Amino acid sequence: MFLAHLINEPCSDPGLYVKLKHRKDAFLFDLGDVSRLSPRQLLRLSHVFVSHTHMDHFIGFDHLLRVSLGRNGHIALFGPQGFIKNVEGKLAAYTWNLVHNYRNDFTLRVTELREDSTETRQYQCRKAFEPEPLSSSDAFESLIVDRDDLTVKAAFLDHRVPCLAFALKEKQHINIMKNALDEMGLARGKWLRDLKEAIGKGLPDETPILALTKEGDGEGGARGETIALGDLAPRIVKITPGRKISYVTDASYSEENVRRIVALAGGSDMLFIEAAFLEEDRDKAAETCHLTARQAGEIAGKAGAKIFRIFHMSPKYRGLEDLLFREALDSTRDFPGSGLYS
Ligand SMILES: [Zn+2]
Repeated sequence: MFLAHLINEPCSDPGLYVKLKHRKDAFLFDLGDVSRLSPRQLLRLSHVFVSHTHMDHFIGFDHLLRVSLGRNGHIALFGPQGFIKNVEGKLAAYTWNLVHNYRNDFTLRVTELREDSTETRQYQCRKAFEPEPLSSSDAFESLIVDRDDLTVKAAFLDHRVPCLAFALKEKQHINIMKNALDEMGLARGKWLRDLKEAIGKGLPDETPILALTKEGDGEGGARGETIALGDLAPRIVKITPGRKISYVTDASYSEENVRRIVALAGGSDMLFIEAAFLEEDRDKAAETCHLTARQAGEIAGKAGAKIFRIFHMSPKYRGLEDLLFREALDSTRDFPGSGLYS
């Protein structure tokens, strides 16, 4: 489970903070003005995803670095083509002659995603942030984070520069219902881990599972009983599907961009999507490679997003945000099941 919130007003710099429940860390999508986040919130960050390095999406780098210098551990940063150069440019702007005395060692792990390759470099504070190559590959890898609790995927959009959109998906939760276990006379133990693994792998219903019984009532009094997965799982297991949130910003309204957004963000429980202009200003939107509120709503509908939220509005709509919210919502009328919240 997670809690996601936009860190600024809709007409200010974009940025989505995601606190992962039951975990200590948090994720940040885009690194614009982050001054509204407390040092405590910034210190939780383990992953930061930067859509592109236009100033309103990257100016918060210095602030994050400053708050993080004294901490242990690392932050993984992801960004598009040119990202390594951008980060190294930021690091080169300061003097690091005293940092080797620091007690804590803060490290940045920077991954640059290109349409035909991927490269990761590491920068340790105590080594004056000198670049150390970590890995590189000759392919774009859309799966950029794969942990036991979640995945993050990225897709390239066109904003006259390559711009990344992201989708975070929790893995399903497989919970054992302890009462049901007791009612069936089954014991707790390692076999439940095997059961969860079999479900996680999607093994067929007839797969035999050796269940541990409380008493010796299995074959010949053994403390085990073989039950088919399809018979056992519905009785003692509760599966909660993982939620999905997507973050899409700075994209021109082209067929290819729409296709890529729908492919990445399809079925999102929450879709955060930019809506820089009203439809009446669509020429301006096209010129600056942004979406209108109507286009954002349509895309959210096509992606089947259960809830969507628009953000990154042009400052000229300050005080008029409702007009954009209304336009976005109106455009989802043909897509029952999609809803906007503000
Ligand atoms: Zn922008």
